[in-house]
Amino acid sequence: MANINKADLIQLFDFPRTRILQSMEVTHCPHAVFFNAADEQCINCHQGEECIWMNHNDEMVALEKKSVEELKQQLLIAVDFVDSNLSPHHLSRRNCQCDNCAWLRKVQSVLGS
Ligand SMILES: [Zn+2]
Repeated sequence: MANINKADLIQLFDFPRTRILQSMEVTHCPHAVFFNAADEQCINCHQGEECIWMNHNDEMVALEKKSVEELKQQLLIAVDFVDSNLSPHHLSRRNCQCDNCAWLRKVQSVLGS
């Protein structure tokens, strides 16, 4: 596998960050999207997965201190999220020009998969 540049990976976090935050019902969160693993409300929250991701990867977190392996893992979670939120007309995504598909292609090329 080719060498993966950490800066390239970190750059890819911008899009899902915005995307996930947009999709979350932040107004319904009593904790202002700050995940609290000890809070039953958080554990049972339907937005739990997205919320945990945000708390691991938002602008406050020093991504450059994480390992490439760690960044890749977090990025793949984001890929799943963006992927599962594509509308049905994205089935022909090879030719799709939307932001989601453009980002997914970028991730694929950086990860070399
Ligand atoms: Zn698309």
